[in-house]
Amino acid sequence: MIDLRSDTITRPTEAMRTAMARADVGDDVYGDDPTVRALEDRVAGLFGHEAALFTVTGSLANLLAVRSVVPVGTEVLCEADAHIVRAELGAHAALGGVTTRTWRHPRGLVDRALVEQLVAPDLGPFLVRTAALSVENTHNFAGGVVQPLAALRGLRDLADAYGLAMHLDGARIWNAHVATRVPLAGYGAVADVLGVCLSKGLGAPIGSLMVGSAERVAEARVWRKRLGGGWRQAGVLAAAGLHALDHHVERLADDHANARVLAEACGVDPTDVDTNIVVVACADAAAVVADARERGVLTSAVGPRTLRLVTHLDVDASAARKAAEVLAPLVR
Ligand SMILES: *Cc1c(COP(=O)(O)O)cnc(C)c1O
Repeated sequence: MIDLRSDTITRPTEAMRTAMARADVGDDVYGDDPTVRALEDRVAGLFGHEAALFTVTGSLANLLAVRSVVPVGTEVLCEADAHIVRAELGAHAALGGVTTRTWRHPRGLVDRALVEQLVAPDLGPFLVRTAALSVENTHNFAGGVVQPLAALRGLRDLADAYGLAMHLDGARIWNAHVATRVPLAGYGAVADVLGVCLSKGLGAPIGSLMVGSAERVAEARVWRKRLGGGWRQAGVLAAAGLHALDHHVERLADDHANARVLAEACGVDPTDVDTNIVVVACADAAAVVADARERGVLTSAVGPRTLRLVTHLDVDASAARKAAEVLAPLVR
């Protein structure tokens, strides 16, 4: 089976498993796991921030990041298809006391003018106060779209003008970095807090990080424990993350090339494919998913007429070409 459902389905490579088996570990609740600390320090440094906190999921990293800048009963603004409002099961409301309003852009992009219309700084004790802006890069449901750095900087300026914080959902920030060559620190510089995932394109089995100031991360550490997310000898997982940072970042370019091969075969303009996600319009997505499965290719329907294909570490160029041959006649 060639599995294009998600880049989360990758299994650790032999070399990654070896790194995990050899990891030096300790009890991370006591701050005693050297491998976890090394991962946290390294990721904080990559983004030019003071500190980072290793978490079990990207959803938890986002929850901790957003709650660190959005007080209970205030709001965060984001795009209507953002993961934080569509795919985190209401966690920010249920556990963070956060409310949201959204702008909509056909490609999931930041539109400073649209955002500015929504901003509600302190207007008195009768309107919800905007506390933060949130941006997703790359944008998952929009199809792995990269947010242009100039637009992110424009949003940062807007946030500063109104005294707002910026959250960056960087589950696939590595893909944006490889596609654009913008340094990770360049993305880090526009945000007060970030969530980044090791378990997507980077191919680690488990793990994400919340990134921010030392003070915010110290408070997030308490909240992570409060939510039941403190962990012990997590160094075996952190070792997978460190291995991924050493070996699996630059190769994301291969995933992007494979995604363009799939796009071309499926009649999608390859120049619309920024990274490793291809969104294909077709007459009956469920039927295509079923037919492709019978022919050895797993895909996902993300709408009645929308198919999603995601390339990753476990799909090499020849598998991508094979999948393209299978899918081409099915989506026409
Ligand atoms: C996958 C993803 C997350 C986090 O997902 P988890 O499954 O909780 O690790 C967050 N944001 C985006 C955009 C994602 O694609």
